[in-house]
Amino acid sequence: MKLLVTGGAGYVGSFCVRGLCDRGHEVVVLDNLSAGHKEAVDPRAAFVMADLADARALETLIRDAGFDGALHFAAYLNVGESVAEPLKYYRNNVAHTVTLLELMQKYQILRLVFSSTCACYGIPAAVPITESMPQAPINPYGNTKLAMEWAMRDSARAWKLGVTCLRYFNACGAAADGSHGEDHDPEIHLIPVVLQVALEQRENVQIFGVDYPTRDGSCIRDYIHVDDLVDAHVRAIETQEPGEFRAYNVGTGVGTSVKQVVEAAREVTGHPIPAKPTARRPGDPPELYADPGKLMAELEWQPRHTDIREIIETAWAWHRSHPHGYRHA
Ligand code: UDP
Repeated sequence: MKLLVTGGAGYVGSFCVRGLCDRGHEVVVLDNLSAGHKEAVDPRAAFVMADLADARALETLIRDAGFDGALHFAAYLNVGESVAEPLKYYRNNVAHTVTLLELMQKYQILRLVFSSTCACYGIPAAVPITESMPQAPINPYGNTKLAMEWAMRDSARAWKLGVTCLRYFNACGAAADGSHGEDHDPEIHLIPVVLQVALEQRENVQIFGVDYPTRDGSCIRDYIHVDDLVDAHVRAIETQEPGEFRAYNVGTGVGTSVKQVVEAAREVTGHPIPAKPTARRPGDPPELYADPGKLMAELEWQPRHTDIREIIETAWAWHRSHPHGYRHA
């Protein structure tokens, strides 16, 4: 298939581009490099540096390329920032997605895979989380992702868009050989932050809350290796039918606490990784992990990385060989 990948220079997007190229798809990446890295884009893919805000550039690309489908990753993703600057999130995430959808309708591109999030569930009434549980985000970031899902669901009904929303849990990990990985600036995600302590780039890791009603008092999350996310995207786009709306949780089904992540990173790196208990981070649900049964049953997906130590080993291979990320490799 000929596929448009928005945000294909970002973390999950760039891994998916590689996975799609491996499968023989023809990929065009559109990215404004506001957060992504040109170096992360597979050389087999064509690269267009443009902003989704530039509707004219987007239309020229879509009109001329003859895409069979699209994978939409481009979005802002910092929860704290979304609370402080919600309209920046509504503009970039929602408004620009509407532009993309309008052009997909105009040029009849009827296959889409969307990078959604478990944040759309807010604080779930129970775990593990299934797709049929209420979607009630607790921050603007989650609200914008849910609004995008709605625009897509309504488009599926109205003009036969075929769409799969993949609701990721905590994306993490790197290529097994350490050649590609996660590079955010500023870095806020737990595993890279912990590994920056092991690299002595930070003094300690703060544990945001040790008084949660969980087994060790710290938050529980479902850490899903980026390669397993790629596998879900490839299966989704290759099986997508026009007019069909699907949503899947993409997680391992295993919950791991913040303290367990830090301990596993100590074992992997051999560094003591000082940890400092601090106040809860506003908006953090105590416990989130997926029931990935629907994705397993319908797309025959199976996570290959379920051991947190092994996942951290892949991230460590990347961070050790790229202590300053892509730009200063
Ligand atoms: N976390 C932490 N210290 C940090 C970064 C994150 O204790 O420096 C916790 C955070 O409160 C959450 C978990 O680690 O419970 C995962 O956070 P992350 O930001 O990686 O992903 P999120 O769950 O917010 O998508």
